[in-house]
Amino acid sequence: MQETIFSKIIRREIPATIVYEDEEILAFKDINPKAPIHILIIPKKIIPTVNDIEPSDAELIGKLVLAAKKIAKEKGVAENGYRLVFNCNKDGGQEVFHLHCHLLAGKKLKWEF
Ligand code: 5GP
Repeated sequence: MQETIFSKIIRREIPATIVYEDEEILAFKDINPKAPIHILIIPKKIIPTVNDIEPSDAELIGKLVLAAKKIAKEKGVAENGYRLVFNCNKDGGQEVFHLHCHLLAGKKLKWEF
C-alpha cells in the first residue's frame, strides 16, 4: 500500500498534535481546521479509501468510530453534537489517501454542497 504523509505522522517523522492513540488508531488535529474542533482519526493500517475497506476491517473501523466518540466526549462536544465525515475519492474531496475520519465540532455546522 502507498504511504502518505499520515504514515510519517504515525512514525513521528513529522509533527502533529496527537489527541488519542492506541495500538491500532491515531487521532490528531487537522493542520487546516474547518471548524473550531477538527480532528482526524486514522487507522495505523494503510487503507487508502472507504472503497478499500474489507469485511476483515470491520472491527478496526468500529474501533475508529468508538475512538471518535471518546474524543468527542473528552473535548466536551458530545452533548451539543459533532459530525464524522469520511471523504472518498475525487468527488468526495479526498486529498490524503490514507483512510481518515474527520471529527468536526464546536459550532453549529451547516450542510452545503
Ligand atoms: P481529505 O480531504 O483527504 O478528506 O482530508 C485530508 C485532511 O488532512 C485535510 O483536512 C488536511 O487539512 C489534513 N492534512 C493534510 N496534511 C496534513 C498534515 O501534514 N498534518 C495534519 N495535521 N493534517 C493534514
